[in-house]
Amino acid sequence: MREKLTIRDIELKDKHILMRVDFNVPMENGNITDDTRIRAALPTIKYALEQNAKVILMSHLGRPKGEPNPKYSLEPVAKRLGELLGKNVKFCHTAIGEQTEKIVEEMKPGDVVLLENTRFFPGERKNDPEFAKSLAKLGDIHVNDAFGTAHRAHASNVGVAKFLPSVAGFLMEKEIKMLSSVTYSPEKPYVVILGGVKVSDKIGVIENLLDKADKLLIGGAMMFTFFKAQGYKIGASKFEEDKLDLAREILDKVNKSGVELVLPVDAVCAREFKAETDKKVFDIREGIPEGWMGLDIGPKSIELFKSKLSGAKTVVWNGPMGVFEIEDFSIGTRAIAQSLTELSSALTVVGGGDSAAAITKFGFADKVSHVSTGGGASLEFLEGKELPGIASILEKKKKHPIIVAGNWKMNKTPSEARVFSRELLKELNTAGNAKVWVFPPFVSLVDVQEIFTGTSVTVGAQNVHQKPFGAFTGEVSVPMLTDLGITHVIIGHSERRHVFNETDFTINEKVKAALDGGMAVILCVGETFEERQAGKTFDVLKRQLTKDLEGVNLSDASKLTIAYEPVWAIGTGVVARPYQAQEAISYVREMLSKIYTPQLAEKIACLYGGSIKKSNCQELFLLPDVDGGLIGGASLKVDEFSEIYEIASKFC
Ligand code: PEP
Repeated sequence: MREKLTIRDIELKDKHILMRVDFNVPMENGNITDDTRIRAALPTIKYALEQNAKVILMSHLGRPKGEPNPKYSLEPVAKRLGELLGKNVKFCHTAIGEQTEKIVEEMKPGDVVLLENTRFFPGERKNDPEFAKSLAKLGDIHVNDAFGTAHRAHASNVGVAKFLPSVAGFLMEKEIKMLSSVTYSPEKPYVVILGGVKVSDKIGVIENLLDKADKLLIGGAMMFTFFKAQGYKIGASKFEEDKLDLAREILDKVNKSGVELVLPVDAVCAREFKAETDKKVFDIREGIPEGWMGLDIGPKSIELFKSKLSGAKTVVWNGPMGVFEIEDFSIGTRAIAQSLTELSSALTVVGGGDSAAAITKFGFADKVSHVSTGGGASLEFLEGKELPGIASILEKKKKHPIIVAGNWKMNKTPSEARVFSRELLKELNTAGNAKVWVFPPFVSLVDVQEIFTGTSVTVGAQNVHQKPFGAFTGEVSVPMLTDLGITHVIIGHSERRHVFNETDFTINEKVKAALDGGMAVILCVGETFEERQAGKTFDVLKRQLTKDLEGVNLSDASKLTIAYEPVWAIGTGVVARPYQAQEAISYVREMLSKIYTPQLAEKIACLYGGSIKKSNCQELFLLPDVDGGLIGGASLKVDEFSEIYEIASKFC
């Protein structure tokens, strides 16, 4: 698995951090009976608060069927969390909507807000994009620390990541690290211990770990299905009648694989499934008599399992050895838990669910390397499946270089441009992977280009005329630019559209002329404030892209870059919220894939432009569909622009 971006990798100061945690705590009459899950989320929450972030927490609780139900309210959790953090945690009575947005808007750095149960909305479990967008409105960055739901594609863990950059919290990071070690690169000898009731629950794990494990130890009720399949007498022990063939198949596979399969040799049995009843140990080979049911592994099996564990360098344990909830039948599970704690030089990982509950009950949880907080999630991880709640977290590096493009507009005289370029060159650590493009006024193109010769900085023009030559006083043509070695040109900037009244027709002519002349085109598109208010953003983008690219063929289109620049954000200091930039650019890609092909739409770089600064560029650059930024004002300052470049370089 490629390394994931974590909360440690990003700047959190002053940001709205929308954090998915797992506060699905057990409750009785409105009281929390076990706050382990709240405590487990504390390190990430505390870290974000120390970094002066504004922390908005979201979680599910129980299964409230997509509608509000006071029984599943997270309000008691807000109170408990406040006690644990030693500060006030504001509770929002609904996860989305204007009221919630207002509360979030008014937050100060260091504030914590807990949203009401996300499952009060049907959109949560359906992973409805509209619901996910409503949640995404609340944040700049999404932190996913809910490993327990990683096997589910819900709106608050997966859907939101389509609108915001999603990074891992500490808990998620540790889960991925530990479970990856035992699933993909275990140090040998590697012992896998499986228990629990159902063979079918563990078949995926057995199949996936078979080529990595050295020994496979099987206990728990599922052992009786294996014994039955081998022809042993199991008395009244529970087994899965319909899984006998499967058990035989597994036995056969394991035998052929060369992995040492170790099954218990004795079992603690009782006549009834209850506490304080007669119990007796029977040898498996001699058979369990009628009327007796096996409820735990026996003492000889414990010794056998212990001997098989000795010298192990990696151990994963999933599923109890017996009915550990009843004291009399908890000895096998306790013994295995304890022997894990004695393997001081081994990586010992306990898969979540019942085995996690067992090791916690016995007080050994902090004496093993890791106890997973996810039941289903850890099982699916061990099966080698890709978990949606992990796949949606960003990788450490973007797949493509981030483009940092500076549009100087009508600023800087040629002398100033020369001084500025030299300073910028000194300041820019162009060893980074981000790409730098600068667009000076025409009169400075030659000088600036000369200064950046031999560097990775690309120098481009801010505009071009559609005709190659002729009676067009004051204009500059494509051949003039290419003759200077200028390869890139911005076309359709909002100032050209709105100040100089360029139409889509003219822009289309310019785009075609530049592409015909072999230039790379940065085509700017974007809606005005009024158009956004009227809900016409997508209509405007559709019109601009369709008209501006009319007649541009597939091979020329590969030389395009699209800059989504909402007019209301350009030069105004009002930056688009990350979800707005992502939503619009995702739509741009959708249009490009309709006009051309999905493959090409993937490849065309899409930039966001509009009041980008060093303080807001990170979350914009990290958006899933954004490949960089077109920067006006902030590109005129050496420090600011180079810092933006450095931030971009961290992520590509
Ligand atoms: C621009 O000119 O393209 C631009 C985005 O400007 P600013 O960054 O100043 O908003």
